[in-house]
Amino acid sequence: MEKAKFYPVKGYIDFQKGATADIERFWEKEAEKLEWFKHWDKVLEWEEPFAKWFVGGKLNASYLCIDRHLYSWHKNKVALYWEDEAGNTKAYSYFQLYREVNKFASMLENLGVKKGDRVVLYLPMIPELTIAMLATVRIGAIHTVVFSGYSSQALADRINDTSAEVLIAADVGLRRGKYIPLKQIVDEALKAAPAIKKVVVIKRTKEEINMVAGRDLLYHDLIRDAKDYVEPKPMESMHPLFILYTSGTTGKPKGVVHSTGGYLVYINSTYKWVFDISDESVYWCTADVGWVTGHTSIVYAPLLHGATVLMYEGAPDYPHPDRWWEMIEKYGVTIFYTSPTAIKMFMRYGDERIKKHNLSSLKILGSVGEAINPEVWGWYYKNIGGERCPIVDTWWQTETGGIMISPVPGIELVPLKPGSATLPLPGIDAEVVDEEGNPVDTSVKGHLVIRKPWPGMLMGLYNNPERYKEAYWSKFKGLFYTGDYATKDEDGYFWLLGRTDEVLKVAGHRLGTAEVEGAVVEAPFVAEAAVIGKPDPIKGENIIVFAILKEGYKPADNLKQEIIKEVRKQIGPIATPQEIHFVDKLPKTRSGKIMRRVLKTIMMDKPVGDLSTLEDEASIDEVKAVYEEFKQVMKKKA
Ligand code: AMP
Repeated sequence: MEKAKFYPVKGYIDFQKGATADIERFWEKEAEKLEWFKHWDKVLEWEEPFAKWFVGGKLNASYLCIDRHLYSWHKNKVALYWEDEAGNTKAYSYFQLYREVNKFASMLENLGVKKGDRVVLYLPMIPELTIAMLATVRIGAIHTVVFSGYSSQALADRINDTSAEVLIAADVGLRRGKYIPLKQIVDEALKAAPAIKKVVVIKRTKEEINMVAGRDLLYHDLIRDAKDYVEPKPMESMHPLFILYTSGTTGKPKGVVHSTGGYLVYINSTYKWVFDISDESVYWCTADVGWVTGHTSIVYAPLLHGATVLMYEGAPDYPHPDRWWEMIEKYGVTIFYTSPTAIKMFMRYGDERIKKHNLSSLKILGSVGEAINPEVWGWYYKNIGGERCPIVDTWWQTETGGIMISPVPGIELVPLKPGSATLPLPGIDAEVVDEEGNPVDTSVKGHLVIRKPWPGMLMGLYNNPERYKEAYWSKFKGLFYTGDYATKDEDGYFWLLGRTDEVLKVAGHRLGTAEVEGAVVEAPFVAEAAVIGKPDPIKGENIIVFAILKEGYKPADNLKQEIIKEVRKQIGPIATPQEIHFVDKLPKTRSGKIMRRVLKTIMMDKPVGDLSTLEDEASIDEVKAVYEEFKQVMKKKA
């Protein structure tokens, strides 16, 4: 079998620098690779911190992802394979996808959805999610996908922020052999989000569901009256394509808005470079479409390239731990993209189960969501990639729209260093800076920033330009603040070192400490709470809660259960705390800020470090004592 070929770093760095020196010229050439209904007048209008890309240009994402493929042999190739954990399957050719998307778009028009309207999609990993996204953008509406693991409260918050009037949902989702009652969650959410006028329900099962007369409609009824062609509307390049909520430093999630032209140009080029994707690829990204990785990797980028996408609904190791390897073998997956958390979970199952499967179709492996440590990298490389597939460790965020730092085997494969995302993509001016915003020396830890705009960058935060400026452009003048720590080594390779802010990464999912704290204090007996992430060998981080009880309440296990229930209700099961500790005081600065750093070091049995700003030393002693007691109890249980 052929081994990966590596090229010297220098050649690529020269090319990368050349591209980055004149971003307008570089991205203009990349934009030519898409089909535009109207050519742009200007490549970039940059009025910091707002970038306008390909001004005056018009295009349509649905046309680019589907219609365009109907004029070639792609028409009858598989665009989308879908399988669930129970083994049910579906396949759509590009033509079939086109038919479904057109009908869905017509249905939306019949419901009165117009250009610029927001459509909320609360759907599990089913083909209708891809169809709904492409249908929404076909008519110039804007989709907001809400991860179907989010609770009713989280769904209501997102609906209210977008003031959407139409919601698309399914009766149920499927996970670990159980139905998740999504329609029930929607009914609960809509009590707190009354702006929704129409709910379209995709019924997958015979399960009984509640239908509210005048509001709830069945997809299968509506689609009967739908036309089979709706013109893909030429959209201005700067028309928003979607809003996607992500966690930040305050309790309220941020509605990240991506543009049509810039986003599509960016992901079209970067998926070619990073994954060497083509119409021959069978591309499988295991993320949920509810995250940016899923938006870009399960829907837009592979379809732009006429590839075949594989979509899987269910848990990775259900009903047995071979499930994923079985799928790679069955569909001949060529590009496989997953998270370090998932790989670590499979490492525990050992490699014997993998050896039973023929994974020789694989060409490139990807990793995303958190840093991949060298041991995990090595295991992935050897056991899944058979020591012949390069691993692309891709660094990016909801805000960046697409991959920013990664090896680029589609251009030139530089030597890989396990644990490093390697080098910025062409046109990306990434740097590591100190507190003053000056580049740090080799191997010194600093803040990862981006110094020049790029087409995939967010347009802003929905209806909140001030928060956009504050969150990303206020820490360093003229530099986009990513919120990540990094270092650069002597070859200029980037090593990502985790978040600088109050953002947790649990199994690759992004959650704000403030968001979880907000949910904890919803429990009527909690006076105050602090949340930290404690490093976990599999999940990256676990959520640890410190709570102060209100007068009259005593620490008890049932209160812990209540808190867990509350967090699951407010956010969803992904935010379930692993440990809850009751304390009388939290360590705070004299200005009243909770010192989460101190809590974290105690949890990790490390020295607490500088305490000069601490208000009350007794709070530290108490946390230490509570934690010691907890450790003793755990030891006994073990
Ligand atoms: P999200 O916006 O949910 O995709 O989360 C983005 C954050 O995930 C980044 O700011 C990083 O902290 C982390 N992240 C994503 N990819 C990587 C990677 N390859 N290496 C290290 N951290 C990553």
